[in-house]
Amino acid sequence: SSWWSHVAMGPPDAILGVTEAFKKDTNPKKINLGAGAYRDDNGKPYVLPSILKAEEKLRAKNLDKEYLPISGQADFCKLSIQLALGDDSEHVANGLNVTAQGISGTGSLRIGAAFLNAFFPGPKVVYLPTPSWGNHTPIFKHSGVDVKSYTFFDPKTCGFDFKGALNDINKMPEKSIILLHACAHNPTGVDPNFEQWKELSTLIKKKNLFPFFDMAYQGFASGDITKDAQAVRYFVNEGHCIALAQSYAKNMGLYGERAGAFSIITDNKEEAAKVMSQIKILIRPMYSNPPLHGARLVTEVLSDKELRKQWLVEVKGMADRIISVRTKLRDNLKKEGSSLNWRHITDQIGMFCFSGMNPDQVARITKDFSVFLTKDGRISMAGVTSKNVEYLAHAMHQVTK
Ligand code: PLP
Repeated sequence: SSWWSHVAMGPPDAILGVTEAFKKDTNPKKINLGAGAYRDDNGKPYVLPSILKAEEKLRAKNLDKEYLPISGQADFCKLSIQLALGDDSEHVANGLNVTAQGISGTGSLRIGAAFLNAFFPGPKVVYLPTPSWGNHTPIFKHSGVDVKSYTFFDPKTCGFDFKGALNDINKMPEKSIILLHACAHNPTGVDPNFEQWKELSTLIKKKNLFPFFDMAYQGFASGDITKDAQAVRYFVNEGHCIALAQSYAKNMGLYGERAGAFSIITDNKEEAAKVMSQIKILIRPMYSNPPLHGARLVTEVLSDKELRKQWLVEVKGMADRIISVRTKLRDNLKKEGSSLNWRHITDQIGMFCFSGMNPDQVARITKDFSVFLTKDGRISMAGVTSKNVEYLAHAMHQVTK
């Protein structure tokens, strides 16, 4: 018999499977609301003009293709942690950050998970919000870190269950790891407000928990990179020694370039040097060193004053389009005559809207209207445009009335 006859067929990826089904549908009105990648108002992928300029600048420099260091490009790492914590961050100025370039957000989370598995002094258990991004559980489990959950989303209000979250956090054993979405929570689009973040910070400190922030959408949520970083900055300024995974997939549209960063904030410089040495030892056998091109693009954009300014306008443009299409979707549902409360569509933020449609309604909207989304009712707002929003509202009303 062959070497692999015992290998069973694995299930398709829940999100990529939606796109496969979408491609097969022949209805000209079909809409793909599965994939979490930004689209312009014509439904087309968007390469940021600031990135195109950065690419031209790079070409003119005639750079070589030598390996990066194991921890990535130093300028890129510094610019990344400054983007998260602010250009004037004292933690960065005092050398308290350990920052390594990661393979986008996923790879950065994976470095963090590997480090926690090897060195975390408390129970090797991470608490994820319910629900969370589908890849969080496998990333941590794959690294040997166990996964538990805490209440986050309230299906009754389609909003944040603050009380439930506080309750569950209170019950976590001391020195546990808690994963927090820094902004634009995926899949729900629901974020704590600033006052709630403050209370979360106090409780997390009281319980001596270790906060691991996943920041995949800085700037993409509100259109303002500072506002979207407010939770992360608050926690750090309150003295939490956080871990942080950053991604440039959404805010710079660098999906396939795989640019991201992993950071840990430490108590002192000596600790930082030791932690960095161990992170390099973990990365080396995983992929040796990170890819070059995306990090170079990010470095060009963030370090050139004019390009950075242009990028900030472009991120805001993407965020604003999503915010405006949320309003249009809600208005059109009202026009259709829906008596349901769709307020959460405009209250939620970022790429996704947790619509509240149940699996039966999702199955019907796909079958009868060729509107494709994940079974949990998550709508990727990036797939909604001024041209298809009326049709979408009509379809949503038909399956929810
Ligand atoms: N974390 C969250 C919450 C996300 O939604 C995503 C992307 O969908 C990622 C991390 C990582 O994405 P990437 O690896 O493409 O940067």
